[in-house]
Amino acid sequence: MGLGYTIGCIECVKEEDLDNIENENNNIKGTFFNIHIGGVMLCFCKEQLEKIYGINKKYKRSYRLLSTGDPPDEIYKRIGSATGNENIDKIIYEKISNGYEFTETLGDLPYYCETCKKLCTNFYFQMEKGKDIYTPNYICEKCNNILEVAFPAFAEECSEDFEKINFKINIYEENNLIKLISNGKEKILKCDCCGNEKFSIMECLLTD
Ligand SMILES: [Zn+2]
Ligand SMILES: [Zn+2]
Repeated sequence: MGLGYTIGCIECVKEEDLDNIENENNNIKGTFFNIHIGGVMLCFCKEQLEKIYGINKKYKRSYRLLSTGDPPDEIYKRIGSATGNENIDKIIYEKISNGYEFTETLGDLPYYCETCKKLCTNFYFQMEKGKDIYTPNYICEKCNNILEVAFPAFAEECSEDFEKINFKINIYEENNLIKLISNGKEKILKCDCCGNEKFSIMECLLTD
């Protein structure tokens, strides 16, 4: 359902650091990014978003959302937010009251900060009303820059979910190194620790 990648500085981050990264141990010296693409648990289709944001609708779908059976609505109310971002949640509630509806294009995606030369993961979604489409603008926690949503070509399994998005930035893997391309121009990632601009995929995980 989702794909996770750990992308690390090839000089600083070593194979043996992966356990620490997984255990969220922050004693790792080099720069690494955990990126996630696709649906997250209890939030991989728009009906679930509607539940999280308190929209009461009858399901049009004939199948169940989860093979194990749908959890009670209470669970979704308790999740409270798909974005983890108060400002964007505020906009979502405004849009809902203005008649906007979620679309099927949703899920985690990598975001790039041009100033910090870093990647992070945020929850992407769209809301539409007629021809108007709203998509969230996430802000870099470090420099307040508006982050640019990106898609990794190597996450093929998830490409269908996001085929309607016109990504400005695409992430590739070339000769085992990560490459970011925007409008034909290369963007860089940078390690705070050694200044190196070479990063590679250290681990790939299937998530659900
Ligand atoms: Zn930044
Ligand atoms: Zn480094």
